[in-house]
Amino acid sequence: MNIGSLLTSSAASHPTNPAIVSSSLTMDYATFNARVNRLSNALWKLGAQPGDNVALLMMNCPQMLEAMVAAFKVGCGMVPINFRLHPSEFAYIIDNAQASILITTEDFDEPVRSLRRDLPRVQHVITTGPQADDVKNYEVVLLRESEQFADVEVDPDDVAWLFYTSGTTGVPKGAMLTHRNLLGMTERFYTDICPGFGDNEAVLHAAPLSHGSGLYGLPNIGKAAAHVFPASTSFDPEAVLELIESQRVTNLFAAPAMIKRLIESPAIDRTDVSSLKALVYGGAPMMVEDLLQAMARIPNMVQIYGLGETPMTITSLSQRDHVLNGNATQTKRLASAGIRRTDVEVQVVDADDNFLPTGETGEVVTRSDVMTKGYWLDPDVTAKTLRNGWLHTGDMGYFDSDGYLFLMDRSKDMIISGGENIYPREIEEVLARHPAVREVAVIGVPDDEWGEAVKAVVSLAVGRDATEEELIVFCKSHIASYKKPQSVDFVAELPKNNYGKIVKRELREPYWQDHERSI
Ligand code: AMP
Repeated sequence: MNIGSLLTSSAASHPTNPAIVSSSLTMDYATFNARVNRLSNALWKLGAQPGDNVALLMMNCPQMLEAMVAAFKVGCGMVPINFRLHPSEFAYIIDNAQASILITTEDFDEPVRSLRRDLPRVQHVITTGPQADDVKNYEVVLLRESEQFADVEVDPDDVAWLFYTSGTTGVPKGAMLTHRNLLGMTERFYTDICPGFGDNEAVLHAAPLSHGSGLYGLPNIGKAAAHVFPASTSFDPEAVLELIESQRVTNLFAAPAMIKRLIESPAIDRTDVSSLKALVYGGAPMMVEDLLQAMARIPNMVQIYGLGETPMTITSLSQRDHVLNGNATQTKRLASAGIRRTDVEVQVVDADDNFLPTGETGEVVTRSDVMTKGYWLDPDVTAKTLRNGWLHTGDMGYFDSDGYLFLMDRSKDMIISGGENIYPREIEEVLARHPAVREVAVIGVPDDEWGEAVKAVVSLAVGRDATEEELIVFCKSHIASYKKPQSVDFVAELPKNNYGKIVKRELREPYWQDHERSI
């Protein structure tokens, strides 16, 4: 089944359900589908063929959701690009994806014009901005086309979404997500993330559609839910809270850094968030201290652990797991990423891919229908990552005896000091409990005696102070002495990538300039 048919079916069954709620555009499902069909016809006439890729360089907006589904319906791979990327980065992705059609929002007209010579494969640009010689206007394009479009039949293993990974560890790579993958992901949302999801749902797109929020758009389209768009594309906690209350939002995806900003907002205590059936967080570790504070104010939190290569899919910590009732085991599990999702296999392996027993730490590998078939034009990385039929996540973790997966860190972020493996997450969790610490990242820096030494990089909470020594002593009182930081750097803000994840590579770089790192 073409994943774009989720919209075709919802428009047929729920034509008058609100589909898009935004300050610029409001429409029902019949109109949403008609506009998507018009765009699909236009793409088809411009020569888009199944197997081609259509690139989207758009701010979060209703038209981006339309363009995503239109590309699916035509049988093309849809390549959504994070709007916060630098022009050289998005040019790289457009070129690497070999897209001949590029759809943009007005904000990108200027950068695309100046980059056009570097994008020889791009033959057509459609923009929500003004029409120009070599650029077509989105609404004009739609006006000319028919509202009828027969969704192109696809093979379940055809590429539907080329998901460029956020690149916290290097150059972005395009994970090929197929129609089968996205359909499986959608079904598992209904079974594992939000059981009971049905009529009158509303999703808030507070995170980029090119990543988490776009993925969550699909199960919402499948149940004819309303898609609510904040007026601003930069994350504004007060506006997000206001929309949750006024639009009775039932689900949204937010990275841990966004949740932290929501709970830091004074508006949280005066906002009615009781409509939420699932506030899904993930994509980066959530410190238990932050989670406890969020749980005190926000109902129905659900954690997911997945990668672009396995969208929202490896494990999840359900709503039930967030109900503690003073239970110590449940509380301990808040530091975990939950249990494996339905129909997903997960194992922890050693360096030779042998399965490790419960309690032993190794690399997390997974196998399922919701797993990329490989990286676009990169057979070497595909062979390495999908070794022996299992997707190697690069994340280190262990299972407890009840099957809860505790993620430690990415293997590249692990610190080896005096032959001991030290997992930064453990130290970060401790420091996050210190009242003066707002955010923290722990990295390994070169050390002549021990190979690597533990360093904490900390941003302080507003109006709070702490000394290096005080934080080191605080760690020593909670974890083994060899794990305590040897030093602490204080920074105003930790470096984050476009999806709000802390980029440890950037923190490490200045220390490793004249040294070779063994991992
Ligand atoms: P991306 O492909 O950009 O979505 O990044 C995936 C990476 O984010 C994973 O390999 C993990 O390192 C991290 N990640 C995703 N979900 C979680 C989670 N629930 N807890 C901790 N780390 C996570």
